[in-house]
Amino acid sequence: MTASKTIGFIGLGNMGGPMAANLVKAGHKVLGFDLSAEAVERHVAAGGVAASSAREAATNVDVVVTMLPAGKHVRSIYLGDEGLVSTANTGTLFIDSSTIDVDSSRAVAADATAAGMHMVDAPVSGGAVGAAAGTLTFMVGGSDEAMALARPFLDIMGKSIVHAGDAGAGQAAKICNNMLLGISMIGTCEAFVLAEKLGLDPEKLYEISSTSSGQCWSLTSYCPIPGPVPSSPANNSYKPGFAAAMMLKDLKLAQEASDSSGAATPMGARAAELYDLFCNSDGEKVDFSGIIHYLRSLK
Ligand code: NAD
Repeated sequence: MTASKTIGFIGLGNMGGPMAANLVKAGHKVLGFDLSAEAVERHVAAGGVAASSAREAATNVDVVVTMLPAGKHVRSIYLGDEGLVSTANTGTLFIDSSTIDVDSSRAVAADATAAGMHMVDAPVSGGAVGAAAGTLTFMVGGSDEAMALARPFLDIMGKSIVHAGDAGAGQAAKICNNMLLGISMIGTCEAFVLAEKLGLDPEKLYEISSTSSGQCWSLTSYCPIPGPVPSSPANNSYKPGFAAAMMLKDLKLAQEASDSSGAATPMGARAAELYDLFCNSDGEKVDFSGIIHYLRSLK
């Protein structure tokens, strides 16, 4: 347990709210700011302190954590004359846990480091349930020194902390993993759809593939048909879980990164297209495994 520190927390939504609450529970003073007054009220009810702006939340603090929707929000909070890179005390540790594009992540980290700050990108997996339970996985990019400074705080909010490499490596790991997940979920769904058309009992396909070369996490931990894996969202009317809209966001980030880095990811591109179509046919708020309904509807 670290000595009590003062932490600014910006972005108190579905993820940031419970993450900030865990820092409060661990004995830290947490100055919270969000554009939503309700989110700030919930933070105060959990024992946190309200800040009236991002700048106030980040002034005279040891650490700032941001948990924001996208790269443009992260850039606007950190960069520019009024941004935290210019206004926070030199030496402040910045932890950005938002899932954003690699280029924004690297740009912000470069400016922060040049201004004498420490910064890590530390996107998460584990969803709102993991955020509340303090069991998130953090994929971290940044220097060894910044990683060492961030670890005690990440340990409070998560249970698996992996140093992926330099600035931006956390975001890179997150989008590579989620691109693989999107592709493997579609592949798993297609196998069940084909089995249904061929008159093969889906339970038999599960029994065989779960111990054969087709085995993957989408099949054995998150099976997209009801039955074989009782905890999967398929058994709960495809309530998320991990919403299709979030999967689409990550697949689009992976495509942006493919374009800017020159990597060929044709399956990732197709997965992004299919999740886009699924989201536009009312699938946005459905768990991402619900894409099986969309695939069944295709001719
Ligand atoms: P959310 O929309 O619930 O929360 C984002 C919060 O940021 C909102 O409360 C919003 O008011 C606030 N915000 C936006 N701009 C702001 C600004 N300029 N200043 C202060 N506050 C501002 O989103 P979430 O589900 O908490 O996700 C946050 C991040 O975590 C996203 O990047 C998302 O991709 C990532 N993520 C989410 C999940 C999940 O399951 N929800 C899982 C892994 C990663």
